[in-house]
Amino acid sequence: MRKIFIVLITLIFYSTSVVAVEKFKFKYNLHENLPKKWVTEFKNIMNIVQEVMPINENTNDWVKNNMKLTNMKQGYNMDIYAWKSTKNPFPEKRINMKYSGIEGCNSPEPWMQLDIFPQDWTSSINKIRTYTVIVHEYFHVYQRALSHRVGCLSNNSAKWLVEGGAKVLEEIYSRQYYKKDLLKSDIQERKRWSIKKVTKEPNLYEQHKTSPQKNGFDSNYAGSAFILLALVNELKKNNLSEEEAFELVFREFWIQRAKQPSGWNWQTSFKNTFGMTLDEFYEKLSKYKRKDLKKILPSKTLMIQDIFS
Ligand SMILES: [Zn+2]
Repeated sequence: MRKIFIVLITLIFYSTSVVAVEKFKFKYNLHENLPKKWVTEFKNIMNIVQEVMPINENTNDWVKNNMKLTNMKQGYNMDIYAWKSTKNPFPEKRINMKYSGIEGCNSPEPWMQLDIFPQDWTSSINKIRTYTVIVHEYFHVYQRALSHRVGCLSNNSAKWLVEGGAKVLEEIYSRQYYKKDLLKSDIQERKRWSIKKVTKEPNLYEQHKTSPQKNGFDSNYAGSAFILLALVNELKKNNLSEEEAFELVFREFWIQRAKQPSGWNWQTSFKNTFGMTLDEFYEKLSKYKRKDLKKILPSKTLMIQDIFS
């Protein structure tokens, strides 16, 4: 009986302390021109990603301080603006916003913006993309929070890890929640990226300026996604489960990143996270062929909850 009592007390104590953790708060600025269905799904997705990949005052001291400062200034931590493509959607807030992304990444108060193209509503696949972009952009906020990054993410880490990660995660989400596998078709399209460049010159995919999204280089981040999946495949060879390997790439790398000062020194975090040097990985990558894609795609049953639990 006494034992039960102690367990009960511990449980009550534990649950009240869990409730008290302050979450990173987003302010939703949703334009009235958005379809109601999109708005409902947006809120639903935001609830899911915040539960699976929480950002709160316990994440680390950098987040805690950042939350304190932004709370003091504006009463919440980050704005999200969303609209169906229109000129100057929130003129009273910010002028001429265009395209989706994390903007103002070098300022103390970056924001997320989601530019939803009306033509995307005419195709069922593109419609899903208007949803998975929410997962993609939230994941950038998560990467940033874990890595204590004040400046823009891709100035401090390889683009293929930043964008390849966000791309692969949004596609795992798409398969899990919408039963659509868009990753395979994107990477299979030859015009989106070059296997020769990816395997022989992966360093080009480390920066936006050397791997533009245009001209068959890294369209829809297909090339970056291929490199990221090859890394997960190599990690699995070290007796890691698929979930564990993805966890290293999606979470642990960014935690390790916080241990290095800002700057182009992510190669050290790479080695500390994955147990191999970047050169060793690129050497392995050089052996990959286009047809290996089938072998390195995430399993169909993979769930984001199992990666981040
Ligand atoms: Zn991105």
